[in-house]
Amino acid sequence: FKTEQFGQHILKNPLVAQGIVDKADLRATDHVLEVGPGTGNLTVRILEKAKHVTAVEFDPRMAAELTKRVQGKPEANKLFITIGDFVKADLPYFDVCISNTPYQISSPLVFRLLSHRPLPRVCILMFQREFALRLVARPGTELWSRLSANVQLYAKVDHIMNVSKNNFRPPPNVESSVVRIVPLDPPPPIKFEEFDGLTRILFSRRNKTVHGNFMAKGVVDMLEKNWRTWCAESGKMVEDDATMKVRVEEVLSQTGFSESRAAKMDLDDLLKLLSAFHDIGKYTW
Ligand code: SAM
Repeated sequence: FKTEQFGQHILKNPLVAQGIVDKADLRATDHVLEVGPGTGNLTVRILEKAKHVTAVEFDPRMAAELTKRVQGKPEANKLFITIGDFVKADLPYFDVCISNTPYQISSPLVFRLLSHRPLPRVCILMFQREFALRLVARPGTELWSRLSANVQLYAKVDHIMNVSKNNFRPPPNVESSVVRIVPLDPPPPIKFEEFDGLTRILFSRRNKTVHGNFMAKGVVDMLEKNWRTWCAESGKMVEDDATMKVRVEEVLSQTGFSESRAAKMDLDDLLKLLSAFHDIGKYTW
């Protein structure tokens, strides 16, 4: 029951555990954040290299086991365990994040790390294979998706290791991969909500044209509603001279992306389109 609920698949292969920690190139001054330490197979190896480790663990029994494992050792002084849900926990300062993540929180984990300030130098994270492949997918390939675009806008992502199920106890149903995420620092000056608003529309059917996705049921209505709210909030008069549909079609034809498909658009294309919507400056997503 716990295994299912918390994704408690313990990494049993010491070579893989050491490999993950080595990929972080830890410095003796580093503060490390670990999410879901479990019984501490990664934690003890991180403690050998880093100055300070904060481990956020949901399950108090696991936290107790980890505490016991380091008890009486000098490393115990560097380990700070927070019991609770990572998604809600306050995060301390950290330079590096290393985690064999409970797969249920893959997305929230990545986006929380990318929005954390100051930005971490590097994150070494284990994910379900399919999620990892979507993180690193390039435009024009089968797995290029909203997730790929949203993450690659803010970070360089590399697939660094395949980890098969039989390295875990109990073995999960899926294969795993380790990825390295290096946040771009400084980050590009683009608000996540705006970029995500665009990718949500364009990737809702990634092989459909940009025009087709914008004209899908509900999209123009939503933009119209957001625009009216934005006008009301910023004290602007709602100009009724053109409908939202016409405005959107104008932007699409000006930029030349009407007949493009998100499946083949790269970050530059997406940013050009976003900026064209921004230039008319009349609403947010
Ligand atoms: N890191 C250990 C390892 O590699 O052996 C354990 C990995 S296990 C896949 C995931 C761990 O994350 C479990 O210990 C589980 O209790 C914990 N966990 C699950 N959901 C969590 C959450 N929302 N916040 C913090 N920890 C969580």
